Amino acid sequence: MSLLEITDLSISLPANGRMLPIVEGVSLTLNRGEVLGIAGESGSGKTMSAMAVMGLLPKDAKVTGSIRYEGRELIGLGEHEFRQLRGRDIAMVFQDPLSSLHPMLTVEKQLTDHLRKHKKVDRRAARARAEEFLRLVQMPNPVKTLRAYPHQLSGGQRQRVAIAIALACEPSLLIADEPTTALDVTVQAGIIELLLSLTQQIDIGVMIVTHDLGVLSSIADRLAVFYAGEVVETSAASTVFTSPTHPYTEALLAAVPHDSGRGEIDLKPMRGTPPSAGEWAQGCRFNPRCEYAQRTCYIDQPKLLEFTPGHEVACHVRGVAS
Ligand code: SF4
Repeated sequence: MSLLEITDLSISLPANGRMLPIVEGVSLTLNRGEVLGIAGESGSGKTMSAMAVMGLLPKDAKVTGSIRYEGRELIGLGEHEFRQLRGRDIAMVFQDPLSSLHPMLTVEKQLTDHLRKHKKVDRRAARARAEEFLRLVQMPNPVKTLRAYPHQLSGGQRQRVAIAIALACEPSLLIADEPTTALDVTVQAGIIELLLSLTQQIDIGVMIVTHDLGVLSSIADRLAVFYAGEVVETSAASTVFTSPTHPYTEALLAAVPHDSGRGEIDLKPMRGTPPSAGEWAQGCRFNPRCEYAQRTCYIDQPKLLEFTPGHEVACHVRGVAS
């Protein structure tokens, strides 16, 4: 049984008197000890899919399909049941750690309160555990950090504290939504390294949601690339990075700054702009931006089909195995 199994997930939200589709027919699986990278531009549905797993969608969202966590169906769970799962079994790290840390409480108070809420431990044991987790996330001085308020820490340190809080109750699933986007490039690398080492030390499944494929190159085992509410390519990360097949994945990768081999940094900005939620082109949703588009691309929507074993692609032109 997979740790997380999402099958045919669709999400729509009310807007201007109708239900606007945001995510359509998404299927994904994640196992313990695995890092699943969810990539795509803003508005692609990747964050909404992660929010559905956490039970954090707006109350008036319509959700169909199935999300099974350790075999238990999450769609239809009430807020009370979700609250018990969040933090204890499924934890989330957000882009801006300041939004998840309380500005008026010390790190110790936040970590120990979280531990005492989800685990039956006394204050002393919670403090010892809090210190242990700050060490695990490689905070240089855990005792001093416990006494600090969030504003006294750097952005990278705050994100490490947020990760410590997320992991303190030993969840089996960690969802990180753009965990490095608000950080300097040098600090980003440290957070990615930390997440990688934590997944190797703890038997946990990690889902990282990001618009930046470069972030996933060193950490993800598998990738799912989202475009306009659906998955257009999914495979082992090594396959996607060495031979991207869907034109959108190819363009996303080309837009990541890389060494040209001539001592210069190369990048090719993607043409066009992503569509607004629900305002998708007829046929293939990527057709307005695709340099390979053919007649059929404007008529029929391509299905996500197996290209090679373990590698699925939704493209009429590039997604047909030879
Ligand atoms: Fe491009 Fe056509 Fe493939 Fe869509 S189906 S990505 S438009 S080639």
